[in-house]
Amino acid sequence: MQPKPNIFLKFIPLIGGILIISTGLLALNFYSKSKNNGYSSASIKIKASPINLENFCQQYQTIGKNLQLWNQESLSEDEVLVKTQAYPNLPFSLYAVALPNIKDKARKAKVPVLMYHDILPTKEVFFDVTPEELEADFELMKSKGVTPISLDQLIIHLRTGSPLPEKPVLLTFDDGYGGHYEYVYPLLKRYKYPAAFSVYTKNMGINTGRSHITWEQLKIMVEDPLVTIAGHSKTHPPDLTKLSDEELNQEVVESKQILEKKLGKSIRYFTYPTGKNDERVRKIVEEAGYIAALAMDDADEKFAGESENLLAIERFGQSRLEELVDRASGGEVVNCSEQN
Ligand SMILES: [Zn+2]
Repeated sequence: MQPKPNIFLKFIPLIGGILIISTGLLALNFYSKSKNNGYSSASIKIKASPINLENFCQQYQTIGKNLQLWNQESLSEDEVLVKTQAYPNLPFSLYAVALPNIKDKARKAKVPVLMYHDILPTKEVFFDVTPEELEADFELMKSKGVTPISLDQLIIHLRTGSPLPEKPVLLTFDDGYGGHYEYVYPLLKRYKYPAAFSVYTKNMGINTGRSHITWEQLKIMVEDPLVTIAGHSKTHPPDLTKLSDEELNQEVVESKQILEKKLGKSIRYFTYPTGKNDERVRKIVEEAGYIAALAMDDADEKFAGESENLLAIERFGQSRLEELVDRASGGEVVNCSEQN
């Protein structure tokens, strides 16, 4: 003879299931409401993924500091998928403006993109920097609370308005010198600073009075998440705007193909030699499949958000670092206390 309570026990899993589903629906309802209460204003939405609501605001605030691409492919799409170091399995989807535009919200930030050239023990020209000076620059950034971000992170920000660290900068090193591998790369690893390196393919591995980085060294660097490699033409002509269409094609398109073949990675950024560009050059760069390009105007240096669009991102010479560490700003601060 079976006692009655056993019949009741049979239903426990069913009751439990109903309870779990109801709680889930309630939580979803609560989340939808919170979303309308302000989070959506930052154009951030969560894909269907488990999320702890109590941590959402905290996650939102740290998203810019630890932001990484979920996958490379989404960078050029109108929804960019990103993740944070704290929640590497949770994709966030950010609405992006159409390429090559910059989102209005991103124009409030002041991100200096710093341009370095060769790093070597004995200076030959005024813009050479010694390893000691570079380390002093890194120490200055550290002491001023400046956070170097990656080129991907800058582009995600410019396309989506995603939050940034309080004082962001982007470090860039042009022309593929041997000193970039010998002095810069170890320092980046020590400080955990990301940086972008723009290389032109003609002088790889040779000595032109200055040593140039080798393909083997570049292959090591490109595998490191701290490093982004950008195309910088084949022969480094002083002014791309003066070239014929055919020459331009070689410099812009062929250099991309060479880098991609040698490194086995897609090259999504281009840097104009000496910064010079015009509409025709930008169009070829865009058609070649680059998402963005770094420029430079000695006479009128600007923050990244002041650039016309992604195909001509402005930079500053590295000698202005000391002044820029106090001006760098991540723009709008997200205030999570407003969620009610
Ligand atoms: Zn250059």
